[in-house]
Amino acid sequence: MTHENRVLIAGAGPVGCTAALILAQHGVDVTLLESEPALAEDLRASTFHPPSLDLLDDLGVTEQLIPQGVIAAKYQYRDRTSGAYAEFDLGVLSGHTRHPFRLQCEQYKLTRTILPMLEQSGKVDIRFSTSLTAVDNKDDGVKVTIEGTSGNEQLSGRYLIGADGSRSRVRSEVGIELEGFTYPELFLVVSTDFPFEDHLENLSYVNYLSDPEEWCTILRVPGLWRVLFPTEVGASEEELADPANVEQRLQRLVKSDKPYNVEHITLYHIHQRVAKHYRAGNVLLAGDAAHLNNPLGGMGMNGGLHDVFNLCPRIADIILNGASEDQLDLYERQRRNVTIEYIQNQSIQNKKNIEQMQDDKRLEHIKNLQDMIADREQAVAFLRRNNMIEALERSHAIT
Ligand SMILES: Cc1cc2nc3c(=O)[nH]c(=O)nc-3n(C[C@H](O)[C@H](O)[C@H](O)COP(=O)(O)OP(=O)(O)OC[C@H]3O[C@@H](n4cnc5c(N)ncnc54)[C@H](O)[C@@H]3O)c2cc1C
Repeated sequence: MTHENRVLIAGAGPVGCTAALILAQHGVDVTLLESEPALAEDLRASTFHPPSLDLLDDLGVTEQLIPQGVIAAKYQYRDRTSGAYAEFDLGVLSGHTRHPFRLQCEQYKLTRTILPMLEQSGKVDIRFSTSLTAVDNKDDGVKVTIEGTSGNEQLSGRYLIGADGSRSRVRSEVGIELEGFTYPELFLVVSTDFPFEDHLENLSYVNYLSDPEEWCTILRVPGLWRVLFPTEVGASEEELADPANVEQRLQRLVKSDKPYNVEHITLYHIHQRVAKHYRAGNVLLAGDAAHLNNPLGGMGMNGGLHDVFNLCPRIADIILNGASEDQLDLYERQRRNVTIEYIQNQSIQNKKNIEQMQDDKRLEHIKNLQDMIADREQAVAFLRRNNMIEALERSHAIT
């Protein structure tokens, strides 16, 4: 096969772009395929966890990302009805991470930061408006069919990374099942410049608000607050995204004399699913192509980044140093297990906690969190788990 040492990557989202940069910095040639004509201006992820910032720092990305976001050194669990809240200070994690804070920054800023680095590397052939349409998994490599502006073409490579998101064509081409379930309700995300900080006492940049009738999260990104609400099962998307209905929800959250200035209204289907395998021969899955979880806790993109920081150095070691391909099975064992043990379980539990209907249980939860905060050791353990440090360490320990 030609191009036998080239790695093909489907999808230039945060995971595909990061994979391309890691491989390029190791000296591996990459072809990065993206169906859209340009990088998506995707608002989905806004939280970068401390270990992701550490890893991206090793690539020279974090120092460019920090000025584009806001630093959330603290975050809160609040109860809308009683006003009680528990505030965690990520500063206690210094010694566990070089970045003891969450960075609130839209995910498109990551891909926009990486793209010029890929161009300058001289190692990455980036093809926009080019969709992967078929995969032929061979013994010594992989052949893919791509559809671009000038028609169909075939490309060969040693490996293919499917970083092509939740509806991954790569995943379906190699016949890997995405096991799990989909929640019946949609999540509604609204962004506004309304100054919530002037109305909700001591608000931090990341806030999870439980409520028996309508829980929500309020997250800061530069210049805007992003509010995430659950929605009624069975309501039409048109009805849910209707600006008048959105206005009513925001008015219920904080009463304002003037109508809210709303910048974006977006609805999302929410899943808890993990691919049955992350490897099929020379094809590897990473990011949303491999796993989907609800966004409470901000772990989907971060988990995808952790996938490729695990996978890509292994691929480079095989291509450049002749390391054993067993490394790729280890990738599947480490990342798939941790996705199930930590990310799936934690995000499902986060949703159960925030939507708790019983007043006494919600208040008990806040009280437990306050008690943990008062005990430094417990606070560190909680924050290591909830900010993905423990999961990353656990994945490295799996053999
Ligand atoms: C409301 C919401 C909030 C979220 N907040 C957070 C958060 O705070 N923190 C967090 O960690 N995660 C968060 N997430 C999850 C996060 O957005 C995703 O996990 C992340 O986008 C996954 O990145 P990816 O690169 O794997 O996939 P994607 O971002 O979906 O990128 C896939 C890319 O592949 C391209 N593509 C698709 N098919 C093909 C093909 N056949 N050929 C070529 N290209 C193709 C697509 O055009 C796209 O550019 C949130 C999700 C939602 C819905």
